[in-house]
Amino acid sequence: MTNATGTVAAHDTDIVSICSRLIRFDTTNYEHGRSNGESDCADYVESLLADTPFAIRRLESAPRRSNLIVTVPGTRPDLPALICHGHLDVVPADPALWTFDPFSGTVSDGYVYGRGAVDMKDFVAAMICVLRDWAASGFRPAHTTYFAFVADEETDGDFGAAWLVRNHPECFGGARYALGESGGMKIPWTDAAGRPVNFYPIASGERGTAHLKITAHGTAGHGSYVRDDNAVVRLADAVSRVAHHRWPNEVIATMGRFLEIVGQVRGETYVLDAADGADAVIADGADAAAAAARSDASLNELLDRLGPLADVVRRAFRPSSVPTMLAAGYKVNVIPEQAQACIDVRTLPGGEERQLAVIDELLGEHVTREFIAHEPALEAPLDTPFYLAIADALRGLDPTAVPVPFCTGGGSDAKAFSLLGIHAYGFSPSCAGAQGQQPQGAHGVDERVPVDSLRFAQTTLDAILRWR
Ligand SMILES: [Zn+2]
Repeated sequence: MTNATGTVAAHDTDIVSICSRLIRFDTTNYEHGRSNGESDCADYVESLLADTPFAIRRLESAPRRSNLIVTVPGTRPDLPALICHGHLDVVPADPALWTFDPFSGTVSDGYVYGRGAVDMKDFVAAMICVLRDWAASGFRPAHTTYFAFVADEETDGDFGAAWLVRNHPECFGGARYALGESGGMKIPWTDAAGRPVNFYPIASGERGTAHLKITAHGTAGHGSYVRDDNAVVRLADAVSRVAHHRWPNEVIATMGRFLEIVGQVRGETYVLDAADGADAVIADGADAAAAAARSDASLNELLDRLGPLADVVRRAFRPSSVPTMLAAGYKVNVIPEQAQACIDVRTLPGGEERQLAVIDELLGEHVTREFIAHEPALEAPLDTPFYLAIADALRGLDPTAVPVPFCTGGGSDAKAFSLLGIHAYGFSPSCAGAQGQQPQGAHGVDERVPVDSLRFAQTTLDAILRWR
């Protein structure tokens, strides 16, 4: 089933109409294995690229779960290849809450509205436009470039990037780098002298994902007995401990560099009190409370001083552990033998083992855990030719550009592509519109991308992919 209205329109040539059209394919990904599928949307992408000279490989991981790999051979086969990846699926949207139908692709007030407008059919549209431009102009990049339009990012990539990497690594021969979502926002601020500058965060790190199902064990029995081994109580206590745990601050290498660059431009010195390590915070007592309070105060002060950059890096200085699901019992007068919960744990690069050990301590001895999803954190180097090329491209387009690396709070297909042994970066260019329109609403209500942001994305992506 598709929400697409009309037939495939090969005459869509402008990024605004292409983005709007991409949104009209309802590619909702509900949960593992339950999805509307990306195949209709992939048909459309394929139709727009059919008259280019580039080889298109279509790979279906399951019925209606389509992935397209478009290969643009580089003029310098000796140079490393690059994967530019965008996902075609989106998260669900409840139309009752939206101003416009989330799958209408409505263009209004300088925006394109709809689910996927900023995550990430905007970038997908830019990929398509760059390919079409290169085909028309005859331009060929120095580096072989694989444009991967993939399924299933919004679950875990088992039908998309992860599946491709497991089953068809030959699609990406010679690849050393990847470019995908996260980062890329143009963030205006001022330098130490009060002159306007634009910061451009490049995602060179991603926190790891440890989605846990935890099970508390106890003894079943009559609900009229008070028992110490009640599984529901054990679960509730464990969930509470995990939820209230205050992770100490940590400054990973990527974020150290971020603070250094922003500090140089702003003429400031940024420090973050890392408290006394995880042990101090997990322990009971006044010392732990004082350490936690100090670490909270230090992080809040830093974020205040980072002004418009604060939201970008809010989740980059700590792991997190957030309970999201609960299940226990089947009758009010019966104590069940087991109780279960799900915890969304995000780990910092280099700290996963330590952080999971803290989780185990918090869960306690009667609670076991298993992974629902488990993807290690990423931290790519900042001195690679491709990272430097992204920064150079930005400075070439904008003399006031300040490229800064950062670590994203969530995850993306970069984790799957990294398994090819390559360095993955996130830079999905976006900016405010001329009338102040802001890209917004990813995974939320009234998701929308400024029309100006789409044009900026196309120009910027093109400049980055022309690296030599
Ligand atoms: Zn996304």
